Amino acid sequence: MKRKDFLKIGGMLVASSFLADCRQTVRKESVAKRGSLRVTTTIYELKLRQAWTLSRGTWTTRRNVLVRLEKDGITGYGEAAPIPRYSESAESNEEFIRQALPVLEKDLWEYQDRWQELEALSPGQNAAKAALDMAILDWIGKNLGIPLYQFFGLNPEKTLPTTYSIGIDEAEVMQKTALAAPAFRRLKIKVGVPDDRKHIEAIRAVTDRPLIVDANEGWKDRQQALEMINWLAERGVEFVEQPMPADNLEDHRWLKERVPVPIFADESVHKVKNIPALASAFHGINIKLMKCGGLQEALRMVSVARALGLKLMIGCMIESSLAISAAATLTPLFDYADLDGNILVTNDPFRGLTLDGDLWKLSEKPGLGVEPVIPEW
Ligand code: MG
Repeated sequence: MKRKDFLKIGGMLVASSFLADCRQTVRKESVAKRGSLRVTTTIYELKLRQAWTLSRGTWTTRRNVLVRLEKDGITGYGEAAPIPRYSESAESNEEFIRQALPVLEKDLWEYQDRWQELEALSPGQNAAKAALDMAILDWIGKNLGIPLYQFFGLNPEKTLPTTYSIGIDEAEVMQKTALAAPAFRRLKIKVGVPDDRKHIEAIRAVTDRPLIVDANEGWKDRQQALEMINWLAERGVEFVEQPMPADNLEDHRWLKERVPVPIFADESVHKVKNIPALASAFHGINIKLMKCGGLQEALRMVSVARALGLKLMIGCMIESSLAISAAATLTPLFDYADLDGNILVTNDPFRGLTLDGDLWKLSEKPGLGVEPVIPEW
């Protein structure tokens, strides 16, 4: 056998085992039909390349909900990455989507009204709202035959590079992960455990790239947070995300007046209504579609945060290329992007978004511009 043929067959085998793996990871599929509307939800288990540890837990898989919304012969896709911290699961997100069917039956072109109706259904389940908002806007983009960045009036040449996240692990493992991601000009390091300094020193020993540090509320008092941030600033850390518990705005205000580098809110910020109270406690905010309930709310948050002089980062959960495409579409409006959820998994069920070094390149296809790897999804 010639080498070329050997490589071709090898490539086909890898591709078929990848597709078989994608098919196997579907845990449940449910379909609801009303008139010309058909909504299919699939609970899909994303497999992480390596165990993912934050200050509050460790995961090797994440169960997301993929939504297929079909109406008038057009299909829109959406994805929910449920956040357990806010009492969400794949099942509770799916239940919300089932309850939302009467809203989805109405005119989807009036998408702003539909979002308000979804918001009125329940105060939580924001990942499910994000999935439906995404699916409706994908549907609208496909109806118009234009990509969503064009619908929003955004320049696709101005997408941002993404950071590459390194979860908490043994110092040597974190060091190896940093070395294995040379294309990423900025790394985001998870901290909030007793070995934080050892971890940062290990990474600094192998790279001088700018670092962002995310404490995920891991430092319990303001003195500890200030000491750590002073120490991190001396080691080239650009800014620090969510130093202390989300509700503790008073100590974050104290901290903001003393730190040598900016502090960003993540767990402290959810929706546009939260932002005014945060402006005195943080220099910037991290907006995530799954936390806020979708693209429409994220756009409102951008306007208010800018008016208050806040810096902006767009972040993600562990998500496939579907939800990452939605977030990447908005990056021209942000200062920083932390959109690497799809890079951290081995069985991404969508394709269409591509990485050029560390820069997301959006598809020119209509809507979100991505398609499922298994055609019938
Ligand atoms: Mg964070």
